[in-house]
Amino acid sequence: MKGLNNIDKLSLGIFPTPVHRLDRLSEKLGIDLWIKRDDLSGLGLGGNKVRKLEYLLADAQKQGAKLIFTTGGAQSNHAMLTAACAGRLGMRTILILKKRGVTACRGNQLLERLMGTEVRFVDTDDYADIYAEMDRVGQASGLPYYKIPCGGSNALGTLGYVDCAREIGEQGTHFDHIVCAEGSGGTMAGLALGAKLFLPGTRVHGMMVDTDPFDVITPRLMKEAAALLGQDTEITTSDYSLRDVCGPGYAIASPEGNAAVRLMAENEGIFLDPVYTGKAFGGLIALAKEGAFKPGERVLFLHSGGAGGLFAVEMQ
Ligand SMILES: *Cc1c(COP(=O)(O)O)cnc(C)c1O
Repeated sequence: MKGLNNIDKLSLGIFPTPVHRLDRLSEKLGIDLWIKRDDLSGLGLGGNKVRKLEYLLADAQKQGAKLIFTTGGAQSNHAMLTAACAGRLGMRTILILKKRGVTACRGNQLLERLMGTEVRFVDTDDYADIYAEMDRVGQASGLPYYKIPCGGSNALGTLGYVDCAREIGEQGTHFDHIVCAEGSGGTMAGLALGAKLFLPGTRVHGMMVDTDPFDVITPRLMKEAAALLGQDTEITTSDYSLRDVCGPGYAIASPEGNAAVRLMAENEGIFLDPVYTGKAFGGLIALAKEGAFKPGERVLFLHSGGAGGLFAVEMQ
């Protein structure tokens, strides 16, 4: 199958994901609020990484890879979904994870156990150590291997969310604002670039759940993804907006995030997670309170998944 600009892409998830209005929360927050259900993307417990992996694993397959490496924290949703997607393709996955967060057999660790995924932990804060370990293990295996970066956030992975923006356009409802979580950057960068290309009049807001320099990462990924599409697109700060919702730290629950998880669960019967989507939705609520959405404007929240984390990370 071919994606944007004839680039190879696999069909792994179930798309398009639903878009629907959140009637009760619209009333409660005094805005016209909708949700894009990428938590229902069809593999694992769903989530945003499937769209990226459709591009990344197509590239791995084309290069003849038999072994896939990726990384993240101990409860990485991306790592779990990589194992799920690669397994469907008959590829072996080895996860080389940072020894950070909940390493016990809970949440995504449990799901990886069920899939028979090989998981190794490296006690480091530097991804350079992790990628060096992938090369050591890969070379020792004798198999052709492929390394997927943390969060699948390189230019190729970012195309998955350019696709998502186009899909939102094809679903026929115009949105003035799209709000998503930003953790490694590909989702936000893809949506912002996709909005620039396919959704005139839509502004994308990235809710930063980590402390990386997203003001640098976001435009860089947008520019690199545009280059893959054969476009020399000028990216300016008016093409996206960012907000810090990290609170006490990456993968540590915040009071605002937890309140947002509860509000969504109580009113709409939809579960967010404390690490990404809860904090992002907390940011959306803050924007609404600050009057960032004008009367009559339509707001779309991207539910990017994360259910695994709900069963691992402590919430009060
Ligand atoms: C990875 C992830 C994100 C963030 O997406 P990035 O492309 O890494 O910025 C958001 N929500 C969930 C549930 C995730 O797993």
